[in-house]
Amino acid sequence: MNVFISADMEGICGIFGLHQWESDGHGYKQACEWMLGEVNAAVEGAVQAGATQIVVKDAHCDGNNIDLEKLHPAAELISGWGPLNSMVEGIGPEFNALILIGYHARAATADATFAHTWSRNVLELKVNGTVIGEAEWAAAFAGHFGVPVAMITGDDKLARQVRATIPAGFEFVVTKTGWSFNAARMRPIATVRHEIRETARKVLLEPRRLPVYRPPLPATITVRYRHWEGLHACEAVPNVKRLNVDTFEYTAADFIEAHKYFSTLNRLAKP
Ligand SMILES: [Zn+2]
Repeated sequence: MNVFISADMEGICGIFGLHQWESDGHGYKQACEWMLGEVNAAVEGAVQAGATQIVVKDAHCDGNNIDLEKLHPAAELISGWGPLNSMVEGIGPEFNALILIGYHARAATADATFAHTWSRNVLELKVNGTVIGEAEWAAAFAGHFGVPVAMITGDDKLARQVRATIPAGFEFVVTKTGWSFNAARMRPIATVRHEIRETARKVLLEPRRLPVYRPPLPATITVRYRHWEGLHACEAVPNVKRLNVDTFEYTAADFIEAHKYFSTLNRLAKP
């Protein structure tokens, strides 16, 4: 069994402030340790379930937060960003399950810690009219290769969102209760890690029953930005329509193409 783990930082137990989120912040080193603690718990659970290949994608900021020396020895690590600029880049049909660690609620979610979608500039991302966040976006990329979602971790607001969008059958481990953009009530950190390990182990024992997230194709993708003043360059992208001052729409044949367009628009949009 091959397991792909994508790790973000905002949904990790203990993380709530910008001093932890940014690599020059005084809480950043500690935040990386906490992130690694949850990643290693998931790797351990996967090993106990019989996983023979485990690949971890470091998917926060510059993709350089996980200390390779301290990563569980059973896992390989993808650091940095590939040409597709995806949080699950490196996944393929050879994987049997996807685990998302430390993910967060989508942009403009009330009382959710670090709620955003890709950049702080994206206010709303829709797939076929349904608002989604980074977790679903990653799940759809994995779904392109037929890889199902096994487990997601993050705050209670993310739990509510993904349970409404991704088909049932995956597990969610709540790491904290979101209170505001920069506040959360943390669960005991040792309990969270224990639950991540145990949940990963149990859910991976039967990977064939896990749900594949596959929104209907071709998919209509709608992206609404916060800063409408800096969107001129986005108009130059072929096959992308500007619906109004802050919103763009395009149709994608699959979720790799959908991601390429989304990533390009985000690079062109000036915050
Ligand atoms: Zn992040």
